[in-house]
Amino acid sequence: MLATLQQATRVAVITGAGMSAESGVPTFRGAGGLWRSYRPEDLATPQAFARDPQTVWEWYRWRQRLIAAASPNAGHTALAALQIVRPGWRVLTQNVDGLHQRAGNPGVLEMHGSIWRTRCVSCRRPGPTDPALDEETAPLPRCVCAALMRPDVVWFGEALDADVLAAAWTVVENAEAVIVVGTSAVVYPVAALPRAARARNVPLIEINVEDTPLTGSVTHVIRATAATALPALASQL
Ligand code: ZN
Repeated sequence: MLATLQQATRVAVITGAGMSAESGVPTFRGAGGLWRSYRPEDLATPQAFARDPQTVWEWYRWRQRLIAAASPNAGHTALAALQIVRPGWRVLTQNVDGLHQRAGNPGVLEMHGSIWRTRCVSCRRPGPTDPALDEETAPLPRCVCAALMRPDVVWFGEALDADVLAAAWTVVENAEAVIVVGTSAVVYPVAALPRAARARNVPLIEINVEDTPLTGSVTHVIRATAATALPALASQL
């Protein structure tokens, strides 16, 4: 595996919630992800936003504050440092927290959008970073077309941005190795990316603290957290 990565100039690194776990960012799923009495599935949908945009925005502002208080961990930093000497390494993330960018990683493909961006629910025009981060009850942001702005993230039941997904496919199709970090990779269409790499015999490396549905089809497993495994890996390349 090391020889492969040492020789590879183009590597796709697909990251998920486990990437940010050691930064103290909750996954917002499962019992620990409850906010008030809501589950993420009750809030992160277009229907929820249409019904009660105030509550959805309050939840996102709460999440923004948690993420703002977190910092990139040693895994984010290692990937960012590695990309300086290996510019063909490309991060594709399912995370919306922006921690890869805060670590200094350029060219990150945010497949599920960013909690730091807004866009109009009607005309899709991008808006500024939500200015009311610290004010849970501040007026909801509005577009110049008068419709509400929403967090620019992919909600349950929504399709990924076609351009971002196409760019992710290009990266994976050209990769000489694919590393999957901290994600169970079960949600399509992102789940199809590592499987497509395997289908054309590209080495597939999993970094995860536990088995995932992908484990059986990877070529190498590193049973460790992102913040432990990535600096160790980078130091050998
Ligand atoms: Zn608009």
